[in-house]
Amino acid sequence: MSESEPPRRKTLSLKSGVAAPGGPPPLERMVKPAGRTVFTPHAAPPPPPPPPPAVGDWKCKPCGTRFDPPADLADEDSVRCPSCNARLGLASDFRADPPNVDKLRARHLKKA
Ligand SMILES: [Zn+2]
Repeated sequence: MSESEPPRRKTLSLKSGVAAPGGPPPLERMVKPAGRTVFTPHAAPPPPPPPPPAVGDWKCKPCGTRFDPPADLADEDSVRCPSCNARLGLASDFRADPPNVDKLRARHLKKA
């Protein structure tokens, strides 16, 4: 024995797992090759989804949340902030034209 081969790892054959016709593709084919993680130094986190468009013609004075007074409230019902639940005034005062902003704890945002 003059030379001995180093022990080899058995290489897995990718062709051994051919799916049956009509069957789902083998999952191993979709796995990324391990051991080579490409690291980009300037990799940025995925951008956050764009914020939903600001809705509401009113702005809660205590917390600043924009909202619309619910349309199904009776005139004598109080409008509450959907965020901080503060009582912001009567629905009738919200619906008045112009709104009775002096009685409300909300600011009316006029659309441009
Ligand atoms: Zn609020």
